[in-house]
Amino acid sequence: MHAVSDCIFCKIVAGEIPCFKLYENEESLAFMDINPVSSGHCLIVPKQHGADLLAISDAGLCAAACTAKKVARAVKATLDTRGLNLLQCNGEAAGQSVLHFHIHIIPREMDDGMAMNWDIVPGDMAAIGVLAEQIRNNIED
Ligand code: 5GP
Ligand code: ZN
Repeated sequence: MHAVSDCIFCKIVAGEIPCFKLYENEESLAFMDINPVSSGHCLIVPKQHGADLLAISDAGLCAAACTAKKVARAVKATLDTRGLNLLQCNGEAAGQSVLHFHIHIIPREMDDGMAMNWDIVPGDMAAIGVLAEQIRNNIED
């Protein structure tokens, strides 16, 4: 498994630093976040290093996504939480602090005050359409 020597999540995957492990399979690992934003906050990583969504392999992404679903079910069963956010940050501007792809599972309760949601404000349909065309043209198989 390709690891990056100064990556904290590679070190967790390698067992070089401890974690509260929840689940692992050949390609992914789930463990508790040690700075939880809510009780039960946990993280899923592909074992193979890749900084973000654009850098990881499709296999790593699929493994992490399937593990996220499995762990989310267990978090809900354990905490009987009313909701769950899955969060995945790419780049400093998006709030990414650890440069090894990861998916957050964040348990939510009604009116818990977490500033993660936004009000629905209708957009400019013409501008949305123009952007859709530009993005479509940049999609590669
Ligand atoms: P990001 O800000 O990159 O989306 O999320 C990184 C997450 O990793 C943060 O929620 C942070 O609390 C968590 N984290 C950072 N260092 C460690 C660590 O050594 N162990 C664990 N379990 N989580 C960590
Ligand atoms: Zn890494």
